[in-house]
Order: sequence, then structure tokens, then C-alpha cells
Amino acid sequence: AEAETLLEVNNIEVIYNHVILVLKGVSLKVPRGGITALLGGNGAGKTTTLKAVSNLLHSERGAVTKGSILYRGDRVQDLSPADLVKRGVVQVMEGRHCFEHLTIEENLLTGAYTRRDGRGAIAADLEKVYAYFPRLRERRGSQAGYTSGGEQQMCAIGRALMAAPEMILLDEPSMGLAPQLVEEIFTIVRDLNAQEGVSFLLAEQNTNVALRFAHEGYILESGRVVMEGSAAALRENPDVKEFYLGMS
Ligand code: ATP
Repeated sequence: AEAETLLEVNNIEVIYNHVILVLKGVSLKVPRGGITALLGGNGAGKTTTLKAVSNLLHSERGAVTKGSILYRGDRVQDLSPADLVKRGVVQVMEGRHCFEHLTIEENLLTGAYTRRDGRGAIAADLEKVYAYFPRLRERRGSQAGYTSGGEQQMCAIGRALMAAPEMILLDEPSMGLAPQLVEEIFTIVRDLNAQEGVSFLLAEQNTNVALRFAHEGYILESGRVVMEGSAAALRENPDVKEFYLGMS
């Protein structure tokens, strides 16, 4: 049987400042249990798509002006970001955004603020985050601002996990990180998907690594989906090889 569709984005248009049309009819689906990559170059519209889903466009004077966004079949466009978190959808922003003056552990605990299931469950999930990210356990008492870029990316993902999400919208996790760390982080994403059942919508410019870890992918150009398919098919596609994988 085909997996249930968790997230469905139908033909959305996004306009910034009432005039700048940035998404020109984007549609995509993320199945339950999927890792779906949203690929494309600088300015293609990846971040805008994620922010449309998590309802973070208002602060940027952006709005979804056409189309619909469904989560488990329910229209979620009018929910606040906090309500989306309660439904299980959490965004990890590009550039990591840890609270620099808080320790790693305090940062992780801020991720649990919408939960009502008590301290025991939160403590258990903190342990789980440390089991997936042993480096965060080592650095738990350090001020986040003094940790490395890789540790801050891990902290941002760990904080999202503390909300007990069903789906994580992960924006450009590879940004600014050395290849070995990128590999480490994507391996953890894969484990979280396989072992915890967390679904991912992953925006990446690093097509190569994203298509090795994702199940399916969509390629955006100038606010439109120009290609979509299984990760395996996209990796073998001649145009993807030429324009996005570079080396082959
Ligand atoms: P990047 O990897 O650089 O973040 P992206 O694919 O995520 O690229 P977006 O950040 O979604 O792309 O940007 C898509 C387009 O929207 C770009 O042309 C960008 O300049 C424009 N844009 C983004 N934010 C705003 C804003 N707040 N106001 C006006 N235009 C914006």
C-alpha cells in the first residue's frame, strides 16, 4: 500500500511585499516516513516554500496568495507557527539560530515549550537527543555561541526533536559545514527517519548529498518545480547530472 501523504502543497503562489512573485505554482508531497529533498540554486524558492508551510512568511511581508497547504488532509494555512508545532510540524531555520547566550542544554529544552506531556517525557527525549548527538551531550553546559558550526546545526535539529515532531522542515543543513560533518548530520537524519519515524522535507543546495540520503526529490528553478522523482531516478537523470551534480 502507498504511504499516507503527510504534507501536500498544491500549486502555491507566494508574493513578497504585495508585488514580488517568488513562488509561481509549487506543488509537492511528503509521504509519512519520507525524506523528501527540495533542491535548487540560490534564490530558487526553497526557503520560501518551507516558510510557507510553517507559516513564517508574515514577518517577511510575504503571503501565500494562491493554492493550498494540507497536513494530514487538513488545511493548515491559517494556523500559527506554534499551532503547527503542536500538530507535529517543526522548522529548523537556515543559519541554525541557536540562542547564543544559552547553553546547549537550555537551547534543547526551549524546543519542548509547547509540550504538555510532562517532565518525564521531556527528560526521556533529552536523553534520546543526546544518544543521537553525543557531541551535544559533551557540550551540554557550553554556551551555544561558543560551539562550532556543526554543533550549532546539531543543536538546532536537537531542539526541533524536543518538540516531539512528526515532520521536520530542515533548511540547508549542510550550509557552511565541512564535508565530513555534513555526512555525519545527514546520517543522523537518516537514522531519525528510520528509527523514530520522523519525516523530513529538506531544502538543500548540495544536490549530491541530498539525493544520497533522500527518498524523493523536487528541483525548483525560479519558483517553479522543474523536475521531480525518486532520488535514484534524479541521480541518474542526465540534466540533473549536468546542471546539479556537476562532476559526473
Ligand atoms: P537560498 O538558498 O539563497 O535561501 P532559496 O532557494 O531558499 O535560496 P528563497 O530564499 O526562497 O530562495 O528566495 C527566493 C526569492 O525570493 C529570491 O529571489 C529572494 O531574493 C526573494 N526573497 C526572499 N525573501 C524575500 C523577502 N522577504 N522580500 C522580498 N523578496 C524575498
